[in-house]
Amino acid sequence: MKDGRISADPTVYINIGSKYEAGDAPAGCENWFTMVNVPYDSGQDWDQLIPIVRKNVLEKLSRMLQTDVESLIENESILDPRTIQSKTSSHLGALYGTASNDQKAAFLRHPNFSKRIKGLYFCGGSVHPGGGIPLCLLSAKIVDQEIAATYGA
Ligand SMILES: Cc1cc2nc3c(=O)[nH]c(=O)nc-3n(C[C@H](O)[C@H](O)[C@H](O)COP(=O)(O)OP(=O)(O)OC[C@H]3O[C@@H](n4cnc5c(N)ncnc54)[C@H](O)[C@@H]3O)c2cc1C
Repeated sequence: MKDGRISADPTVYINIGSKYEAGDAPAGCENWFTMVNVPYDSGQDWDQLIPIVRKNVLEKLSRMLQTDVESLIENESILDPRTIQSKTSSHLGALYGTASNDQKAAFLRHPNFSKRIKGLYFCGGSVHPGGGIPLCLLSAKIVDQEIAATYGA
């Protein structure tokens, strides 16, 4: 991903919500949310990349599950970094803020406060300490403590 390309053998994340809430899918069906990590949008030709990634993912799942997964799909929609940006305002379609792939990344994350506007604070996945629910909650705690320390509890 460093050079803006996508692995031909990506790690695949699958969440099947209907395993927990049967009503989230029609009777006898499942709702699969399938995700692979890709680079942020730096002008790649996503329309050309999507069918390649889709094929790689389906081949991998079919091989691992020993089932022809594609033939079971009745309905699908695909989000890519362009549509993630347009639907969620996430900069360049990045889910976790700035890349955390190099050793200095942890020190370069956006701080929890604005250096330009006094009293403006940030918490969430794209700022310190990082993405994922536990770190997002930690960032909310940091902001809470900062505000309490500055303005009183
Ligand atoms: C597919 C996927 C799977 C994940 N799995 C895990 C996992 O298993 N464990 C884990 O710890 N983390 C996981 N994460 C990461 C985790 O979900 C995120 O890091 C976290 O949700 C980020 O929290 P946030 O509050 O920064 O942003 P969000 O959760 O995105 O919340 C931002 C909110 O702001 C709202 N919003 C946006 N713009 C506006 C506006 N202009 N006005 C008002 N509201 C607005 C949005 O609708 C949204 O509700 C996953 C992420 C993805 C995408």
